[in-house]
Amino acid sequence: MRTIIEPFKIKSVEPIRFTTPERRKQLLSEAYYNPFFLHADDVLIDLLTDSGTTAMSALQWSGIMNGDEAYAGSRSFFRFEAVIRDLTGLKHIIPTHQGRAAEKIIFSLVGGKGKVIPNNTHFDTTRANIEVSGAVALDLLNELGNKPEVRAPFKGNMDVDALVSTIEQTGRENIPVVMLTLTNNSGGGQPVSMQNIREVRDVCNRYNLPLFLDVCRFAENAMFIKQREQGYENKTVKEIAQEIFSYADGALMSAKKDGLVNTGGFLALNNDELAEKARTVLIVTEGFPTYGGLARRDLEAMAQGLEEVLDEDYLTYRLRSVEYFGEKLLEAGVPILEPPGGHAIYLDAKRFAPHIPPEHFPGQSIVCAIYQEGGIRTVEIGSLMFGKRDAEGNHIAPPMELVRMAIPRRVYTQSHIDYCIEVIANVYKQRKSLRGMKIDYEAEYLRHFTARLSFL
Ligand SMILES: *Cc1c(COP(=O)(O)O)cnc(C)c1O
Repeated sequence: MRTIIEPFKIKSVEPIRFTTPERRKQLLSEAYYNPFFLHADDVLIDLLTDSGTTAMSALQWSGIMNGDEAYAGSRSFFRFEAVIRDLTGLKHIIPTHQGRAAEKIIFSLVGGKGKVIPNNTHFDTTRANIEVSGAVALDLLNELGNKPEVRAPFKGNMDVDALVSTIEQTGRENIPVVMLTLTNNSGGGQPVSMQNIREVRDVCNRYNLPLFLDVCRFAENAMFIKQREQGYENKTVKEIAQEIFSYADGALMSAKKDGLVNTGGFLALNNDELAEKARTVLIVTEGFPTYGGLARRDLEAMAQGLEEVLDEDYLTYRLRSVEYFGEKLLEAGVPILEPPGGHAIYLDAKRFAPHIPPEHFPGQSIVCAIYQEGGIRTVEIGSLMFGKRDAEGNHIAPPMELVRMAIPRRVYTQSHIDYCIEVIANVYKQRKSLRGMKIDYEAEYLRHFTARLSFL
């Protein structure tokens, strides 16, 4: 088979800036060893996130010029609404400025004290919005999902038996919605199978509960289904996506991922009453329902992006480029979460730096070393992001300690990825010199964004 190439050519370029390891050592200490504080100009290759970092297409940019900036009833809104309705089949399409705005709206309406919201794995902002409302965010990932060394096709699946026993124990009246996140970002960008979505839907039917999908990466998930699940090989990705949405009563999306835009999102609902309430909150907090906190040109770019993302040449290249990164790291002996997910490669920090216990943040230590070695920015997804404390102040570690290297869409070429592989392989060779860390300052919620750390 021939090399799968980038299915685009480059029309506009942006220079990236080189720094020395000595300079980066200094910059890291000024950033409290938290790469969220680094200036992006001091980053050579930025794998912090795939969110909002997409390169837009020529058609998206021309859509931006073509946007209709009317406050109410904008033509750009109607295009946006039509595209999402065609894709999701859902009735009410409510634009928001990004994913968490949709989360804030929905959980302020259905959350609250005493409520429990199950998901395969809640993303950090989803969890935070649920917890801020007073409700409990419950992760019911299947057992394989927490075993980074095991290869399986659909490690994002929900444990359906655990869902049933949760409903039985909690009482269906305390569960406002059941959720599934496609792909499972916090669980390694692993896909959920159509069969699992159907099984979860069946359970929801049995208990008369609504199913909401967090669909930030629905197209990547649909492509995995096409490649891996029997019966879907001859369907188009769009048909697969439409089937996924057919099982949902609602969907939340950060379009900064598979919407191929730099900002935007939406909430889509079937329930009239809930949609009415959501629009009221939207008007108070985001804006009028035909723009939801966005410029109308952003809706135009989102509509175009949601069509482009279903291009199967694009998705083939997208999944292959991430897989290539993972394959080469494995060849260099570097432990990663297997198999590679859709949008990112995750280093398995427990195996990478087994001498650093979870309470001393092995992932964060690796993050710092990778930046210092090669100017690459990555992010810890482990004890720093999800760690808790018990009543005595002892650290409670999450199941996995990972370092995420998210690949922005359509931004970097194969030689950028080859460079990253060289840098990480080199850090891995020197892994015994990695040191544990401690937190010197943390905020109450989402502490990883603003935490200040130092080495022990
Ligand atoms: C990014 C993301 C969100 C939140 O979206 P923002 O646009 O960053 O607010 C929610 N869920 C998942 C799975 C995500 O990846």
